[in-house]
Amino acid sequence: MKTRLHLLLLSLFSITLITAQQPKKPTSSEIHESIKKLNFLGSVLYVAAHPDDENTRLISYMSNEIKARTAYLSLTRGDGGQNLVGPEIRELLGVIRTQELLAARRIDGGEQLFTRANDFGYSKHPDETLAIWNKEEVLSDVVLAIRQFQPDVIINRFDHRSPGSTHGHHTSSAMLSLEAFDLVGDKNAYPKQLSRTDIWQPQRLFFNTSWWFYGSQEKFDDADKSNLLEVDTGVYFPSSGLSNPEIAALSRSQHKSQGFGSTGSRGAQIEYIELIKGDLPTDKTNIFEGIDTSWNRIEGGKSIGEILYDVQKNYDFKNPSGSISELVRAYKAIQNLKNEHWKNIKTTEIKDIIAACAGLYLEATVNSNHATAGSNIDLNLEIINRSASKIILSSIINPNGIKIDKNITLDNNIDFDFKETVAIKTDQQVSTPYWLTKKGTLGMYDVEDKSLIGKPETPRRLNITFNLNIENVDISFTKAIVYKTNDPVKGEVYKPFEIIPEVSAKISEKVIILDTDKQRDIEVIIKAGRANIEGFVQIAHPNNWNVLPEKQKVIIVTKGQEQRLIFTVIPPKEQSEGLLTPMVHIGDMIYTKELIEIDYDHIPFQTVLLPSETKIVRLDIKKRGQNIGYIEGAGDVVPESLRQIGYNVAILKPEDISAENLSRFDAIVVGIRAYNTVEELKFKQELLFDYIAQGGNMIVQYNTSRGIKVDQIAPYDLKLSRDRVTDEFADVRLLSTNHEVLNFPNKITPRDFEDWTQERGLYFPDEWSSEFTPILSMNDEGETPKTGSLLVAKYGKGYYIYTGLSFFREFPAGVSGAYRLFANILSLGKNDLNDAEQIKN
Ligand SMILES: [Zn+2]
Repeated sequence: MKTRLHLLLLSLFSITLITAQQPKKPTSSEIHESIKKLNFLGSVLYVAAHPDDENTRLISYMSNEIKARTAYLSLTRGDGGQNLVGPEIRELLGVIRTQELLAARRIDGGEQLFTRANDFGYSKHPDETLAIWNKEEVLSDVVLAIRQFQPDVIINRFDHRSPGSTHGHHTSSAMLSLEAFDLVGDKNAYPKQLSRTDIWQPQRLFFNTSWWFYGSQEKFDDADKSNLLEVDTGVYFPSSGLSNPEIAALSRSQHKSQGFGSTGSRGAQIEYIELIKGDLPTDKTNIFEGIDTSWNRIEGGKSIGEILYDVQKNYDFKNPSGSISELVRAYKAIQNLKNEHWKNIKTTEIKDIIAACAGLYLEATVNSNHATAGSNIDLNLEIINRSASKIILSSIINPNGIKIDKNITLDNNIDFDFKETVAIKTDQQVSTPYWLTKKGTLGMYDVEDKSLIGKPETPRRLNITFNLNIENVDISFTKAIVYKTNDPVKGEVYKPFEIIPEVSAKISEKVIILDTDKQRDIEVIIKAGRANIEGFVQIAHPNNWNVLPEKQKVIIVTKGQEQRLIFTVIPPKEQSEGLLTPMVHIGDMIYTKELIEIDYDHIPFQTVLLPSETKIVRLDIKKRGQNIGYIEGAGDVVPESLRQIGYNVAILKPEDISAENLSRFDAIVVGIRAYNTVEELKFKQELLFDYIAQGGNMIVQYNTSRGIKVDQIAPYDLKLSRDRVTDEFADVRLLSTNHEVLNFPNKITPRDFEDWTQERGLYFPDEWSSEFTPILSMNDEGETPKTGSLLVAKYGKGYYIYTGLSFFREFPAGVSGAYRLFANILSLGKNDLNDAEQIKN
């Protein structure tokens, strides 16, 4: 197997907190650590389900203390999580979390692998998980990852024996890892993979347990530990001045979108590793016992080891370049290894070490972070040797594979800068995450190019190769072309260099809800990827809708400039929904993609191309009441959604909650997890309950059962539980069919529960006082009916409503039934006849 993965992920033990794209500039100590790693030939694969599941203490310990090649196989990219740093959700959050894992690995020294499984949201049981994922495909990807990475030891984060006790994705990751362990060495298992990789058999499989899996510290203390290894991961590294847990905390803190900032500790820290498969080591601290992790393990390795163990021993911290000639000799010998796997890995490692010892700096930059296929780019190349070693730049190879002879002797500390112009091929592929180029299913990404399966990101296709001669041996170094600029505040800034289409387009709103058949203007934004764009744009729409004018001219002179055009959408008379897509015609090409840029300091700048789609919904909806006060919780887009269907929504800060202010509103809606996150609300509950008594409606969305900051969440007894219905297709039974909330002003039917997304709801109450009327009943397969998803109680002249239904997910997805039901909740007691009791049962 030939992979470039190692090139991107080689760990140089670089703890220095540099921004994501800056080139590594290893110190003398870091080079020495890399030489130690070069002399260790053992590998560990850590397996779990999500970005942030991984135990960075153990990964860092294996990578930095043991010096093992250490990889984390995350089955998913975490699309189903929440984003605490920005608006991206779903596949764009998956892109961010992929990069957060890579940022974490740059710190803890691990590598990163994935499968095609998609994080579709919370799952209670592995049976459900493995039915939604394509089990065969995910298992095949786990087998492939093991065969390609060739770990001696696998460590599962989760216990395969405890389905139902944690997220179904978690248990599934352990079950699949265990199943794969018995398949990877079998030639008849997934035989098609064997054209790209070999069979492989790891020696041991462990489970990274802890007291948590035993229920309590006491139970864990009493448990039989004869099968457990104990590893002290609290080691200190003088080479970086950091303890291993401090490195692990820096790594974990990269999961910023999940709010997993972490503070390091010092001193002993025991990790427990339970043997599941293979033989139990007699030394209970050594997972590699009995496995040869020296150069002797490979044919022809012994003589290489003899050179390199001496390099390690004789390394001069004041003059790393003193090691170059011996390193070059070892490099030559490595090229003759028959074992392709180790040859590739060790070639990449030793080249980086030689370059670091020579103070070699090689860079190919451009002055824009993107260009289009067929355009010319001006490259700035920099190369410098900062050692007394004899190094010649023989030639360079440009991205089109053209060799340009140079023959320049690189004298010590003389900087060479030169320029090259490169014509990017007209058929050069655009840059985008490879797993998002085709539409997948709920549970799986569809990866067209099978050779990319498992890779963390799309390999860089535009590279420069520097062919050098170092001490009479030819060694070449390949560098991705990057964009470099100076920011007045941040200083040196790097971004990946990407190929984008000549135009991209989007409609400024992602979901448009129309509550009448009145026409509505929409804005289409067209962006030029190159200069001098000329063509026209049309909007594809459902048949019973109309969009005018039929087409408009597109003229953009400058690269990067936007043109904004207004179209008018005319909805049908009846309820209807569909998609709008701008289609930009340039010459005989039609462009239908939207260009999304993701810019955060902790990860490299991301460019993503997705189908440009806006959901349009013509709702058949009636409403009572106009003015809504919204008390924000942990963050949701419910206020914007309610504005879309014509409500006036004012955000109410806790300090604005007064009797006088409340009296202006027809209803007060409390945002998700407000009682978990907003401390001040405990002083406002009485005011809110008085408001209800005076005739107002108060709607409280879900809160988690733990960590409620108010004494009384409702004016009557109400107990939250962890009940949830995760199946968005679960049957919804209408319990109180005559209740006003199901009849006025909109007649709610089972049809209103079709096309929901991700889940029905969560943290439903499971006990409530008799004043509450449960409206709906639903449950996940195999569970008892849950009736707490929507509870309505009359209080004084108004209504208190508690709902764990996931309106916050359904609204942004344009689910019409969710809007109709919510309009009824807001309208409670506002019956025109002023005779609510008549309809109420
Ligand atoms: Zn997880």
